[in-house]
This record gives sequence, C-alpha cells and structure tokens, in this order.
Amino acid sequence: CKIDYQAAPNILENRVILVTGAGDGIGRAAALHYARHGATVILLGRTIAKLESVYDEIENQGGPQPAIFPLNLEGATLKDFHDMAETLDKEFGRLDGILHNAGILGRITPFEQYNPELWEQVMQVNINGPIWMTQALLPLLQASKDASVIFTSSGVGRKGRAYWGAYAVSKFATEGFMEVLADELENQANIRINSLNPGATRTQMRRSAFPGEDVATLRTPDEIMPTYLWLMGPDSQGTNGEKIDAQPAR
Ligand code: NDP
Repeated sequence: CKIDYQAAPNILENRVILVTGAGDGIGRAAALHYARHGATVILLGRTIAKLESVYDEIENQGGPQPAIFPLNLEGATLKDFHDMAETLDKEFGRLDGILHNAGILGRITPFEQYNPELWEQVMQVNINGPIWMTQALLPLLQASKDASVIFTSSGVGRKGRAYWGAYAVSKFATEGFMEVLADELENQANIRINSLNPGATRTQMRRSAFPGEDVATLRTPDEIMPTYLWLMGPDSQGTNGEKIDAQPAR
C-alpha cells in the first residue's frame, strides 16, 4: 500500500495509458489523475456521455488531449480487441499501460439462486474481456520502454465470502491470471503485471453492495490514487506479479 506516495508532477509524461471503465468511480478518478501527471489517457467504457464528461474535465485541467474509446466489454469479441490494437497503433503508435478497472458486481445472492446468464456476464466483463484485450495489446506493450499492466482485484478475490458468487470467482481468476502472465513475462524487464485491490471505496458499486452503509466512513476514489499513480508510473519498476492494496485494511 502506497497511500502516502507523492507522485512527481510529470511522472507519466509522454506515456499513453488505457483506462477501462473510465467514466465513473475509481476509473474516472484514475483517468483524471493520470492525465494530471502528464499521460495521454484513452478513456474506454460503455456510456459515452460519461466518457465525454471525463474528456472535458481533462481538457479543462489542461492535460494532454485524451481519447474516447467506446466499448462494451460484455459483447466485445476478439476482433474488437484486435481492431482496437490497430487503432491505438495507428493513432498513438504506442501503449505504456493498461488499468483494467471496468467491472460489474452481478448479484449478491445465495448460490442456489444465482442466474447462470448473469454469472457468464460477470465473468465476461470482469475477467474474460480483460484477458483477450491484454492478448491483443501485448505487442504494443512489448514495444514500450516501460509498461505497466494493472488488474483490479478485490478482498473477495483473496478470501471467498458467502453470496458474492461470480464477482468473487472473477476476482480470484483475475489474481490467478495476473500471476500466470507476470511469471511468463518475468524476463521482460520492460513490462510489469500486477493486481491492485482498491479496498472499500465510495462509488456506485460499493453503494449497491452495501446499501445501508454510512458512505462518510469510506475513502473516496481520489484518496486512493497515490497507489494507482505509483503502480502505473516508473517508481514501481521491478515490481512484478504482486498483489497490491491501494489502502490499509479497515
Ligand atoms: P463503478 O460501478 O463506480 O464503475 C465501474 C465502471 O466500469 C463504470 O464506468 C462502468 O461503466 C464500467 N463498466 C461496467 N461494465 C462495463 C462494460 N460491460 N463495458 C465497459 N465498461 C463497463 O465501480 P468502482 O469504481 O467501484 O469499481 C472499479 C473497479 O474496482 C471494479 O473492477 C471493482 O470490482 C473494483 N473494486 C471496487 C471496490 C469499491 O469499494 N468500490 C472494492 C474492490 C474492488 P458505466 O458507467 O457505463 O456503468
């Protein structure tokens, strides 16, 4: 956990960074902070109006001009990911980081009542989509001098919890895939692969998981950004295959 980390102002200068689920919650904060520290941010998500509002805010804060990449991970195919790689290569000629942040909760419900279609949907958005996106973008990442790939985990991706169903399983799979890929790329010093657990954070998703909670007790997305900046930027060089926490346990 690097909650006290202070990123140098231009630490992400000249980097092109893709943020998925950039329209809301933690992804929105990460896109704004990455841009504020010099990155050209590619804003990927499914609700274009939200991406446009992040785009405008980056322009207003004087950051490098971002780009919007509308994509719904639920229906995305291998071809979509390869087209995406081609577009990024053509438009930017490089990619120096991915924050795999988009995710859905599915339903918190006893397993006997879990709807199999919803289960598939959660696995698609939270892990299968990110896996095939990563495969398609790997050549671009490999060409970078210093690339960081961050997968978003959760406390229930490390210790299962009753009723959390597909969400928990998708986060276990996220940790597992992160370890496999990090180990495969162990000898490529220019790419690091890690997972990041934001911890309880004040967003819409947290609100649907814990409707009765006093949100004032939760850290905001902005407050957990030091770890997001550290792991995306050069100060985390040499960290590979690690499960990182964005905030101390509550
Ligand atoms: P939010 O629900 O606030 O934001 C999730 C973002 O992902 C939204 O922008 C959403 O788009 C996007 N998204 C969802 N489904 C898709 C899809 N099919 N295709 C493209 N984009 C999609 O969640 P958080 O910010 O809270 O969560 C961010 C990440 O952090 C998730 O991976 C979550 O599992 C993880 N996490 C969060 C915790 C917390 O306490 N908040 C704790 C532990 C982990 P749209 O706006 O269009 O819905």
